[in-house]
Amino acid sequence: MKTLKIAIQKSGRLNEKSVELLKNCGLNFENYKSSLITSVSNFPLEILFLRDDDIPEYVQDGIADIGIVGENVIQETKVDVAYLQRLGFGKCKLKLAVPVNSPIQKVSDLEGKAIATSYPNILNNFLQKEDIKADIKTISGSVEIAPGLGLSDAIFDIVSTGSTLKNNGLQPFADVVSSEAILIGRKGEENTPLIQELIQRIQSVLRAKD
Ligand code: ATP
Ligand code: ZN
Repeated sequence: MKTLKIAIQKSGRLNEKSVELLKNCGLNFENYKSSLITSVSNFPLEILFLRDDDIPEYVQDGIADIGIVGENVIQETKVDVAYLQRLGFGKCKLKLAVPVNSPIQKVSDLEGKAIATSYPNILNNFLQKEDIKADIKTISGSVEIAPGLGLSDAIFDIVSTGSTLKNNGLQPFADVVSSEAILIGRKGEENTPLIQELIQRIQSVLRAKD
C-alpha cells in the first residue's frame, strides 16, 4: 500500500498538539526536531515538518496527502482543499481592533481608514461583504504596533487571550472569523482507506477527550 504523507507544523503553536495527537493515535515515530521528514514505524505514514503557511499548498499540490493547519491559514492562502476533521486545538479569533481612544467603534466606521494586517485576503473578503472601502496595509508581523507608529487606524489580527492587544493600548471591536486546527486533504481523495483509518483513530482520540 502506498505510504501516506502528513504535513504538520515544524515548530510553533500547533507543533506540540499535532505531534501529541498523532502519538495518541498510536503512531510510533521519532520526533526529530532537526529532520524535515520522519517515518512512522507501525503505520504506512511519513510526517513532513513544515512552516504552517506552506501546508495548504503542499496538500493542494499533492506533495503531502493530508495536513494539520489553522483554518486562518487555509482561508488566507485561498487553496481549495477538503476539511477532513476539526481538531479542537489552536483556537483563536481574527479580530478588528483600534487604539482605546479611537473614534472607530463599529465596522462601518472603517470606511476610508487604514487597517494593518497579515491577513489581507480574509480582511478584503470581509470588507467587501460589509461594503466598506478601506486601505489594507499588509505587514508580516507585529501588526499591533502599526497604529502607534501611525501606519494604520486599526488592525486586523489573531487574538487568543487579548493580552497583546491590551499591552499595546488596543481594544477589539469586532470578531471576524474563528479558527482552530483542521485536518485537511485533497478534494476527492477523502475516502482512501488509509486516510479513513487515520480519521477514525483521530475521532476516537477526540471523543476520549470530551
Ligand atoms: P511558522 O513558523 O510555522 O510560519 P507562525 O509563526 O506563522 O509559524 P504560530 O504563531 O506558531 O505561526 O501559529 C500557528 C497557528 O496557531 C496560527 O496560524 C493559528 O491558527 C494558531 N493560533 C492559536 N492561537 C494563536 C495566537 N494567539 N496567535 C497566533 N496564532 C495562534
Ligand atoms: Zn506561519
